[in-house]
Amino acid sequence: MSSHASSCPTPGNGSPHQQALSYEELRRRDIAYLWHPYTEISSFEQMKFPIVESAQGCRLRELDGSVLLDGISSWWCVNLGHSHPRLVRAIQEQAAKLQHTLLGGMSHPPAILLAERLAQVAPRGLGHAMFASDGSCAVEAALKIALQYWTNQGEPHRTRFITLEDGYHGDTLGTIGVGYIDGFHRPFLPALRPALAAVAPYCNRCPVGLRPESCHAECFDCRESSSGSSGSMETLIRRHHDECAAVIVEPLCQAAAGMRIYPALYLQRLRALCSEYGIPLIVDEVAVGFGRTGAMFACEKAGIVPDILTLGKGLTGGLLPMSATLVTDAIYDTFRANGEQPRTFFHGHTFCGNPITSALALAALEVYEEEKTVEQLPERMRILEEGMRKVAAVLAGSPLRTLGMIAAIEIAPGAGGRLRARKIAARAYELGLFIRSLGSTIYLWPPLNSEPAELQSMVEILERAARETA
Ligand code: PLP
Repeated sequence: MSSHASSCPTPGNGSPHQQALSYEELRRRDIAYLWHPYTEISSFEQMKFPIVESAQGCRLRELDGSVLLDGISSWWCVNLGHSHPRLVRAIQEQAAKLQHTLLGGMSHPPAILLAERLAQVAPRGLGHAMFASDGSCAVEAALKIALQYWTNQGEPHRTRFITLEDGYHGDTLGTIGVGYIDGFHRPFLPALRPALAAVAPYCNRCPVGLRPESCHAECFDCRESSSGSSGSMETLIRRHHDECAAVIVEPLCQAAAGMRIYPALYLQRLRALCSEYGIPLIVDEVAVGFGRTGAMFACEKAGIVPDILTLGKGLTGGLLPMSATLVTDAIYDTFRANGEQPRTFFHGHTFCGNPITSALALAALEVYEEEKTVEQLPERMRILEEGMRKVAAVLAGSPLRTLGMIAAIEIAPGAGGRLRARKIAARAYELGLFIRSLGSTIYLWPPLNSEPAELQSMVEILERAARETA
């Protein structure tokens, strides 16, 4: 159970720059100087947007003192709630000792202990960790590791990646090559080397026209599909295995595509086929790692072990940026010098494995374990699912998708689709809940340790917002 008080801390004095600025003044300066990610400029300038001054648990405190529930864990990362005292203390204690030193050619205790701990808690066999700051950087490292792994093995021609249609793995040029979403990435398409994208297991619109109740992941090896992609996963792997560097997927949930949830069987079949051809399987748990699916890792839930695993967001409990790329010892060992021939991985970011973020991640791993964050999920999952079922009932014909602490409703065209989704998000804000729609999908992705009453409030606000936007 979370130890958070239900209110937010009142703001401290802050820096002289922050003192005594009114909402209007901060808003003016924001519009004048700040560029917001994934935000349309003109409409943002017109709206009254929240300016958050402090936060605790799943509660964000706005400048005027009003409280906003964080329905999406501040972009899917604040798994353990804001201002968790243990995590704040870990930051403060490490900050007082060592703030930064490089990991190139030297080391420090927090990074060493974190790498060791990750090898213990992650799916078995992923014995070495390379750190970075953002999820995209963890995925970039994974892709480059796969490429150099093949060079190390004497097969440098293996440079293609296979992925899923509508996958998402970050926003750098490398990652959008393997996770292209047309609505986000079209301007960059000419500069990309797109991966081979297999028919996605989009269960609400089954690509092979079957029902989820009797699904055997037929789309994994279907001959034909309604999606128009270049082929099923099995077809692409069998056809391109000798030029393939790796397969990369988001496990169990294609999050950015609209929380599309798919069966574990698909991943099990993928694991088996990658093993058959000796192709590294990269599983990207940047979004869903650390409890989101109802298990500590989605791989665990699916009963598979990847060759490369990417983690981010919830790794630090979401309080500071840190990501990790975990690899098997077998892959790691191919990077050792071969006689006179060096095989150094010339990759790394200045702040990778930063002592403060490493110490914070170590503390977060302790909190996940000691507070039994994952074990306490079933009741919360039930509240989320039951509540969202009521929201879906208001949005007639709109399917509900749930997995662990993810609950999404894809609003049917007849219920207003994308426009309705935006209206619901706007109305929810007025009612005290912050969410963002993903196309025509609305979803909740709350901190894992949100109090049951807070989860209840979130779903009730969404239900009311859905009714009032009819
Ligand atoms: N991979 C997945 C599956 C994601 O969902 C995201 C971000 O949402 C990323 C990678 C990129 O992470 P970041 O935004 O930290 O770069």
